[in-house]
Amino acid sequence: MYDLKDQVDLETVREKYRVERDKRVRDDGNEQYQQVDGDFSYFVDDPYLETAISRAAQQRDLEVIIIGGGFGGMLSAVHLQQQGINEIAIIEKGGGFGGTWYWNRYPGASCDIESYIYFPLMEETGFVPAHKYTSASETLAYCQEIAEQFNLYDKALLQTEVVGTRWDEATCRWLVETDQGDKLNARYVVHSNGPLNRPKLPAISGITDFKGHTFHTSRWDYGYTGGTSDGDLTGLKGKRVAVIGTGATAIQCVPHLGASAKQLYVFQRTPSSVEVRNNSATDGEWLKEQPPGWHEQRRRNFEKILAGKPVREDLVRDGWTDAFRDLFGGLQDKAPSRRRLALWTLSGLVNPAFYRQGARAYLTDKAMDFMNVREEMELADYFKMERIRGRVDEIVDDAETAERLKPYYRLFCKRPCFHDDYLATFNRPNVVLVDTNGQGVERMTENGVVFENVEYPVDCIIFATGFEVGTDYARRAGYQIFGTQAQSISDKWEGGMQSFHGMHVNGFPNAFFYGPIQSGFSANFTYALDQQSQHMAYIVAAAKARGLKRMEASTKAEKGWVDTIIKKARDTESFQEACTPGYYNNEGHGNQTQANMAYGEGPVAFFDLLAEWRKRDQLEGFDTA
Ligand code: NDP
Repeated sequence: MYDLKDQVDLETVREKYRVERDKRVRDDGNEQYQQVDGDFSYFVDDPYLETAISRAAQQRDLEVIIIGGGFGGMLSAVHLQQQGINEIAIIEKGGGFGGTWYWNRYPGASCDIESYIYFPLMEETGFVPAHKYTSASETLAYCQEIAEQFNLYDKALLQTEVVGTRWDEATCRWLVETDQGDKLNARYVVHSNGPLNRPKLPAISGITDFKGHTFHTSRWDYGYTGGTSDGDLTGLKGKRVAVIGTGATAIQCVPHLGASAKQLYVFQRTPSSVEVRNNSATDGEWLKEQPPGWHEQRRRNFEKILAGKPVREDLVRDGWTDAFRDLFGGLQDKAPSRRRLALWTLSGLVNPAFYRQGARAYLTDKAMDFMNVREEMELADYFKMERIRGRVDEIVDDAETAERLKPYYRLFCKRPCFHDDYLATFNRPNVVLVDTNGQGVERMTENGVVFENVEYPVDCIIFATGFEVGTDYARRAGYQIFGTQAQSISDKWEGGMQSFHGMHVNGFPNAFFYGPIQSGFSANFTYALDQQSQHMAYIVAAAKARGLKRMEASTKAEKGWVDTIIKKARDTESFQEACTPGYYNNEGHGNQTQANMAYGEGPVAFFDLLAEWRKRDQLEGFDTA
């Protein structure tokens, strides 16, 4: 690593990254986006419904209401049933199960986490995915398979949106009302509404003037474009199309748009990093030979590598684990001797709790500084990004276009992308990259999109502009939650999230919240949902077995957990500050508080902590009645 250091002047790299960042940071941060309501509410209509459900409003008493029919909601229902809890309703606004996969059916939609670890319940269902990286259609089909195999359709209220939930102290139950007029009540409510669920639009001047067709990628209009999520967009023959945004979604749909449209303009504000994907067919025979427990082992192995913990073998070997090996690789050489380790432990540089886990597992922030680890990682990051930038030159013919497609920031400033056709799409004569030099689209007119006073006339504008993150919880969920003394969740979390284990909230008894904050954050989000839902199901069953009606995170437990999150938070402030803006760093404005972070020791440590807590079987941290 030190040899490499002689080849690069990190100060020059930092300055280049800082210039790229500074031209993108805006005072209005999250406010630059507008909500999809009012005049824009058609952007969240369901384009996939074949028939609208017509049913009578229901009034029912249930044990558990699960809000959200994505993987989190389905796993909750499965684990509850395994615990013998069957009086369940799953409320889902879409016309079927799948959550993010119900909505995101854009052409090319697929998951770039290995399918063997992304798909939950693989040992129970015996499902064999066709490819290392699954497609949207296969994922949606698997969701339906889970729903059928575990009898979830009987419990589902589809095409139904929750409009409000309220705790009733007299009965110790939650009252849940829906837009179908249902008045349901349940002992417990699980909020599994998805962290990237609410589409957002940039507040571009003139956005309502455009007379052509528009939609958001999460509500793809196949009636207009023709084709399916596998591509072949025959409806775009002869059409001029603009796509706004170049994040993980655009990377996947742009190749299909380029192949089908007469003319495609890709409006870029910040280029994504696009690494090799290299998809391949899976080996069903290999899967059959795996011993029981292989799935959990594989998922843990992946998480450990991403948390920088030592493993004997990289089982998944994909772009994610490669990236982490590249970035943490330098640390391998830094493994201290037992003697130095003992000294560091005494001097507080090393967290003794992790002593036995191997050299990389226990480095505190202080130790990282002491060993100059951060600089080594910065160097490794630079070389990784240079390889990614070099790949653009190798693939894109036009040198100027290639230069504009190069990402100048550190790898994890934005979500890394993996694709083998995206960059080559810019070699097509009908595809034009309109790079806005970090500024974004200037305005829209009735005919098209304008940047630097040039109007690009189009028939259709597709917003690949992502989802709300960091806005008020109730706004993203689409409903308010009123707990004890009618306190709303928006008020409770106004100054930042407060929870016990990221899931239980004082003032909101018998409610479970899923998500990455104050919990185990994983790039393989379904694994976190699986762990959270198992934990929830255990608690509901344990409370039932004890005859409890009310379970509320105590103020002490909540405060203790928030303190733990802050204490263990990795010091990422300087990293985030130097990053180009995006939803990873609150649009360049940083986290208001370290309390809004995930558990600092990584997801595996967090899930182990929950497992230990269950093993003790004491329901610690709850006030019960
Ligand atoms: P993102 O938020 O990642 O991207 C939004 C894009 O819109 C960015 O390129 C952004 O630019 C651009 N943008 C916003 N405003 C403007 C503007 N005014 N003018 C021009 N461009 C603008 O959303 P995605 O839907 O792409 O991805 C969301 C998340 O979904 C991903 O991060 C990932 O977690 C998940 N995902 C996962 C996939 C998988 O394979 N597992 C595939 C697809 C998505 P800028 O960067 O400058 O803000």
